[in-house]
Amino acid sequence: MTDTNQPIAFKAEIKQLLNILIHSLYTERDIFLRELISNASDALTQIDFVMLTDRDILDPEAELAIRLSVDEDAKTITIRDSGIGMTREELATNLGTIAQSGARAFLDATKDNSDQKLADVIGQFGVGFYSVFMVAEWVRVTSRSYQKDSQAAAWYATGGDTFTIEDAEQDTRGTTIEIKLKSDAEEYASESRLRQIVKTHSDYVRFPIYIGDDEEQANRQTAIWRQAPRELEDSEYNEFYKHLTLEFEDPITRIHFVADAPLRIFALLYLPAKPERGVFALRKEDGLKLYTRKVLIQEYTTDLLPSHFRFMQGVVDAEDLPLNVSRESVQATALMARIKKILTKQIVKQLETLAKDQSDTYANFWQNYGLFIKEGIASDQSDRESLYPLVRFHTTQHSESWVSLTEYVAQMKDGQDKIYYILGDDDRSVARSPHLDYFRKHGYEVITLTDPMDSFMLLGLREFAEHPLQNVAAPDLELPAAEAKPEEEPASEALPADDLAGIIARFKAQLGERITDARTTDRLTDSVARLVDPEGALDQEMQRVYRLMDRDYEVPKKVLELNPRHPILARLSQLPADDALVASVIEQIYESALLIEGLHPDPASMLPRIQQLIEAALR
Ligand code: ADP
Ligand code: MG
Repeated sequence: MTDTNQPIAFKAEIKQLLNILIHSLYTERDIFLRELISNASDALTQIDFVMLTDRDILDPEAELAIRLSVDEDAKTITIRDSGIGMTREELATNLGTIAQSGARAFLDATKDNSDQKLADVIGQFGVGFYSVFMVAEWVRVTSRSYQKDSQAAAWYATGGDTFTIEDAEQDTRGTTIEIKLKSDAEEYASESRLRQIVKTHSDYVRFPIYIGDDEEQANRQTAIWRQAPRELEDSEYNEFYKHLTLEFEDPITRIHFVADAPLRIFALLYLPAKPERGVFALRKEDGLKLYTRKVLIQEYTTDLLPSHFRFMQGVVDAEDLPLNVSRESVQATALMARIKKILTKQIVKQLETLAKDQSDTYANFWQNYGLFIKEGIASDQSDRESLYPLVRFHTTQHSESWVSLTEYVAQMKDGQDKIYYILGDDDRSVARSPHLDYFRKHGYEVITLTDPMDSFMLLGLREFAEHPLQNVAAPDLELPAAEAKPEEEPASEALPADDLAGIIARFKAQLGERITDARTTDRLTDSVARLVDPEGALDQEMQRVYRLMDRDYEVPKKVLELNPRHPILARLSQLPADDALVASVIEQIYESALLIEGLHPDPASMLPRIQQLIEAALR
């Protein structure tokens, strides 16, 4: 290294980077300050570390801080730190001849050159020091290294192909960066503007950031998520939540944890009172704030949570995430996947605890967020089983309260090995379903599923604790053996076989193509008939899914099953075959069965016939 201030050429990659930064317009220009503050913070962290063992250095008493100042007339801003500093040689290598990994990742990611992509990459991971050239006409970096006998030097560049280095005067340890703003970047020559950027991007930097002559601190400095949970009050947690989201209601619960292995991460997550964001919500999108060593690297990080937990808000601070690693890089992706796994587990655990300790709060959670959990079960192939314990249902025996699968299984009757459910449109029609005759009579609990999302959820929930889930409307259903108990009332006599055959023939003739078959069943007690799927039909769940997705829906053809002991059939068989009433009764039985299945396309159309039947009854 010579003492002359001959221009030194930037490394080729850096030239390329500078060219892009200078000649494109970015909406994300603010982040240049974040990058410079992040470097200052790194330099302070390093000197902090040196001083653990060595205090025989330049300015050992200097406050570890970052100072910003503005000259509004000259349109310059200055960023000064009392960090580790750089020697002349270090200035040359660090700021010009070695491309940091960030620069290379940036160039890779911007090969396709779309402006949106550029803004994304700069905004999310930064391109380090060079981002200053988005706003700078020229930059002078004056630095003095921490060694006692060090000499100050100044690096100077305009964003062209070269930079210069010369001796400089600086009494104190650390680095001073002076920026002359471009004419289109003069907005940054304002203390309040800088203060606002610090608040947004560097609020939790570990060292104080002072702005202006009065040295007012601009950042809140303490990263609450890095404090020990036992040192924090509920009110502090809630205050931070409100600062983060600008929501007015306190969160339902929070998760604050520090993990050391396999990764050092700090996470502070909140479950908002409601899934919808408030009108004045600060956070417009889903996703967590991702910091690395307290520097914000991504505002809305959605790949840290499975999509069904997208309602969570909060901050993740991962020590080992390289700040300059582009999002697409394999290393970053693998790290993110590991963090995601840890977070997901913590959320499930916290929700289970909530369910155990505060059942009312959990019920409230379920009402607000149950849909998300169901969605997760329907779609998350890898992790759906961890969600099963979170699910709550109404059942035939608990139509008001919420029952978990675990509770259902605990209440199963002797010899019952299946979890029974029924699908329907609403609680009231489900309660009257003929499919429940047997279960009602023998006291088996049946889960009632009336939420449109339930059919989707069932696609991913076929078994719990080794008990298969069983739809009570399935035609091939094997009934649980009823416990032997003395018959309270003798069942009424079934119709003689001849009469039955005649009746079934009448039903078939009347309903024709609308049913695939008519037959008797022993499953019904109170109801006269029910509709079941013919063999080989699409599952009832899938039928509902299709219906909800409106995929060429038409009333599916089903088998009409009749109760041979029902008085209506007995009376029907006594009527002359050509009696007009017979046709109407058959039509009405069929359409009532459609209705109770939630399949009737136009219930009001039954009214004229019902009126006709009333008239006949009153005759
Ligand atoms: P990165 O921070 O990822 O290393 P940058 O482009 O932001 O990449 O910075 C390049 C290098 O310049 C840093 O690694 C560091 O060695 C040096 N540097 C930048 N700013 C400072 C500073 N304020 N104090 C000391 N060294 C600095
Ligand atoms: Mg940096």
